[in-house]
Amino acid sequence: VKGQNPLRAQEAGDGMQLWIQEVFYTLQGEGPYSGEPAVFVRLAGCNLNCYWCDTEFESSTWRPTLNELLNEIESVRPPFCNLIVITGGEPFRQNITPFLEQLAAKQLRVQIETNGTLFFELPDDGDIHVVCSPKTGSLNQRLVPHIGSFKYLLAAGAVDEHDGLPVASTQRQGESARIARPPQGSSAQVFVMPIDSGDAVVNQANLQACVESALKHGYRLTLQTHKLSGIR
Ligand code: SF4
Repeated sequence: VKGQNPLRAQEAGDGMQLWIQEVFYTLQGEGPYSGEPAVFVRLAGCNLNCYWCDTEFESSTWRPTLNELLNEIESVRPPFCNLIVITGGEPFRQNITPFLEQLAAKQLRVQIETNGTLFFELPDDGDIHVVCSPKTGSLNQRLVPHIGSFKYLLAAGAVDEHDGLPVASTQRQGESARIARPPQGSSAQVFVMPIDSGDAVVNQANLQACVESALKHGYRLTLQTHKLSGIR
């Protein structure tokens, strides 16, 4: 059921084992690497529960060691694919620093998808692009310098006329809330993406809201092309 997941706190572990929902090879559907082949690593659990969230990240019983996880990645990764997308749930809910170090050692590029509230250190030598999709009013200040892109989900009728970004709560449907904005002076690219309501008419309006916001404020439109193309 959308948005009914339990709120799971950040785990302080040593990062040598991670709760993993799934590992799979696909095309990245959205954001700066849209269209690019990538291995997705979906970490289990989230510290938020957005009312429209339709991602399954709670049913995992798999907690591999880093070696087991890396073997699984290698078993699905074609040699030409060097992009690993780390998503969730919320990836920074678990200590992913040792995992990122291993990926950097293999010279794999990494994209992390985060809600912006939590953080673990990133290795200095990693090729890591953090995409932050803010869901709450503030961002983790240790994360902020590492954010390469922001991604906002927009719904028609819930867009701030001054900055073209959301004015609605992600946690409670129908309530307004001030979702964190890119910090002043941030050079991160801003993406806008329509919320998938499950209703074609509403989705068309949400898409139109994104188009208007992108044209007016210089953002980049991104769509969930994995849904459009029928892949996961
Ligand atoms: S933060 Fe992301 S994964 Fe967590 S509930 Fe919200 S949309 Fe889903």
